[in-house]
Amino acid sequence: MSQRLSRAEAFLAKRGESILKDKIFLALAEEFISSHKRTLASFETSGVFEFCKSCGNGPKGGCCLYEAGDWYEVHGLALNMLLGVKMRPNLGGEYCPFLGEGGCILIYRDQFCINFFCEELFSLLGKREIQRLRAVAGKEILAGIRLESYLKRFGD
Ligand code: SF4
Ligand code: SF4
Repeated sequence: MSQRLSRAEAFLAKRGESILKDKIFLALAEEFISSHKRTLASFETSGVFEFCKSCGNGPKGGCCLYEAGDWYEVHGLALNMLLGVKMRPNLGGEYCPFLGEGGCILIYRDQFCINFFCEELFSLLGKREIQRLRAVAGKEILAGIRLESYLKRFGD
């Protein structure tokens, strides 16, 4: 993780300025942020965040496993930094290094992080609501894939 973060920082030191001037990147980033905000609003309204927060504070401790940190490669980390995330991962803990006090610190997340519903959430929300949330989340996932793919064109 530390190595990948250093590589992401080096990538941004080399390419960050030109990336932030690139009109296609900016348009894709705007599209991604809009879809991310729509996902957050939908999940908030449906009660997912409140439910997950109490699960995280309970004996189960939520579901953000330590290994999830390995799902993020150099471009995914760099993308989060470009989107304004201050990267201070907790590398010595029991849970995902990106789990902060107020929840996930990332903006650009792995699709599993966006779209995971455990059995308890299924029981709480029901199939129809889960389908609706998956449709919203799917748009963020697609916009994120497009954005990260475009970022990769800048090399590494
Ligand atoms: S998805 Fe399920 S297991 Fe994960 S934090 Fe939410 S309630 Fe807990
Ligand atoms: S949602 Fe965030 S904190 Fe949780 S596993 Fe994914 S990256 Fe880690």
